[in-house]
Amino acid sequence: MPAMAESAGPRGCPTIGYWPVTYAHMPRLTRSPLLTPDFDLYRPAQEHEDLREAVRDLATKQIAPFAAEVDDQARFPQEALEALVASEMHALHVPAEFGGNGADALATAIVIEEVARACASSSLIPAVNKLGSLPLILVGTTEIKEQYLRPLAAGEALFSYALSEPEAGSDAASMRTRAVRDGDEWVLNGVKRWITNAGVSRFYTVFASTNPDERSRGISAFVVEDSDVGFSVGELEKKLGIKGSPTREIYLDNVRIPADRLIGQEGAGFKLALQTLDHTRVTIAAQAVGIAQGALDYAAAYLKERKQFGKAIAEFQGLQFMLADMGMKLEAARQITYAAAAKSERGDADLTYFGAAAKCFASDVAMEITTDAVQLLGGYGYSREYPVERMMRDAKITQIYEGTNQIQRVVMARHLLGRG
Ligand SMILES: Cc1cc2nc3c(=O)[nH]c(=O)nc-3n(C[C@H](O)[C@H](O)[C@H](O)COP(=O)(O)OP(=O)(O)OC[C@H]3O[C@@H](n4cnc5c(N)ncnc54)[C@H](O)[C@@H]3O)c2cc1C
Repeated sequence: MPAMAESAGPRGCPTIGYWPVTYAHMPRLTRSPLLTPDFDLYRPAQEHEDLREAVRDLATKQIAPFAAEVDDQARFPQEALEALVASEMHALHVPAEFGGNGADALATAIVIEEVARACASSSLIPAVNKLGSLPLILVGTTEIKEQYLRPLAAGEALFSYALSEPEAGSDAASMRTRAVRDGDEWVLNGVKRWITNAGVSRFYTVFASTNPDERSRGISAFVVEDSDVGFSVGELEKKLGIKGSPTREIYLDNVRIPADRLIGQEGAGFKLALQTLDHTRVTIAAQAVGIAQGALDYAAAYLKERKQFGKAIAEFQGLQFMLADMGMKLEAARQITYAAAAKSERGDADLTYFGAAAKCFASDVAMEITTDAVQLLGGYGYSREYPVERMMRDAKITQIYEGTNQIQRVVMARHLLGRG
């Protein structure tokens, strides 16, 4: 890197520039090994594309046919679960040593994207399995991983993530759920709200305060099972979108669990919760990209079919420009998502920034594209007979969960201001 030079700029404002340096340090690109014919930095591996093709085929044949019904009846997409388990795509991120496929973060993102293209609710099966189990993968002991990752990989259990509470959303550190040590056990009490797949999942990563005086440094993470005495779930939340994905409260009423269900260190749970989200915001970005792609594909096909004023509406340049903007934004969203996935896989230091940026950008783009898709279909876009209004409703949640997009911007600004 050239040295940065500071100098006084116009009207005394400080300026930072590169101008005093020469470019002698630059590699001579014409002879550089960077310019080789097999230059392959900016595209996924062939294995990733093969995986995409396989998931798209599965999603088209076994998930898409039920998507409208799942939404209409607000029922769990059992067909999708079975299809994903049969093809081992329900939790493909689980490391091979614990019975999983050990898929990298990009492969997992591609699976979520392709399932979301067909049915956003169904895409929450692989997405939330990763969200729920990642704390164990990141810091769990071999024993706890053996105990919980194997059933997850085998499709015998789903895994949820329970951070939010009625009074603690964006400010998750203000949680009231308590865990108190009692001999060889922990006793948990509290309420968690908005828990995806609650009631369907067998396992839950629950964050609870073990030392309220320490606030975020007094939070710890535990595995709770649905069969634990004192564990129960609430009614289904009635939602705008992702209606096939059950969202419920969970209640912890003197739930006693063995001490070895603590994940990682006591007091390090909040850091772990955020570290997990750094990785899984990439999966929400992938979900947003998938929803947007589904809407764009449907709208593009519709434009060619629908005739007004004696010709296909695809002939109107105003609509062509809308379509072009949709495609352009979608591709930008996909690229930042894949770049963030690569950072997640490598564990890059700037993952926090990229995870937030990918999630924020892709979800904003998904909201725009699905809204435009409704517009392109005219009155039919507004009808439940067509899928784009469902996609628009589904896209909205990607701007809200795993941290609202305002919170993503807080995270990004902190990084840019060097306060991360
Ligand atoms: C369908 C669904 C599924 C979910 N699944 C899960 C799950 O599986 N597990 C889980 O733990 N949670 C889950 N959540 C919870 C979700 O992550 C929270 O809803 C989200 O983090 C926002 O919290 P809140 O709803 O309490 O909103 P609030 O925090 O009350 O925010 C209200 C508004 O204030 C804004 N705001 C808050 N603080 C700031 C700030 N500092 N600067 C600027 N603006 C701010 C927010 O952006 C928002 O616009 C889910 C939520 C939904 C709706």
